[in-house]
Amino acid sequence: MQANPLKQPTQTPEALLERARKVRMVLLDVDGVLTDGRLYFSNSGEEMKTFHTLDGQGIRFAIDAGIDVGIITGRESALVTRRAQDLGISVLFQGVKDKAAALDAICATHNLHDDEIAYAGDDAPDVPVLERAGLAVSVPLGHACAHAASHAITRTQGGSGAVRELIDFILASQGKQPF
Ligand SMILES: [Mg+2]
Repeated sequence: MQANPLKQPTQTPEALLERARKVRMVLLDVDGVLTDGRLYFSNSGEEMKTFHTLDGQGIRFAIDAGIDVGIITGRESALVTRRAQDLGISVLFQGVKDKAAALDAICATHNLHDDEIAYAGDDAPDVPVLERAGLAVSVPLGHACAHAASHAITRTQGGSGAVRELIDFILASQGKQPF
């Protein structure tokens, strides 16, 4: 594990660590971040997604370490509800048109400030949240607008452990890594 696994388009390593130390909740986009961004459909029209076990384990580590994890997604599907339940994620906003409004609601409910939020997103709907989050992260295949609004880009692709990379970085910054 490298000391500083996140690529930094705009931030020094020290500034990035300082941001990570304040994080009390990690909020995640789904498509392109927790998944590879592809939408899979069966012949019967049922939507499928694949999730990575590295991300799942990281989310469990974060929750165990007292850092909440939530999802804000523009799409809506029962399988995201199921995955969130599997991982113990209680903060789940689906079908969200205005992600900044969802961030407002989450911060109000959980008594959090923007600088206590880490957010990972990959496209235009994420930009309003990326611009506010204390630690804003995108993924290598994210759109340029998401990259521009982020403090760092993961080395790992969305759907392949990018969320684990982010969570490892946050936990390490706070001395809470479980291994
Ligand atoms: Mg997305």
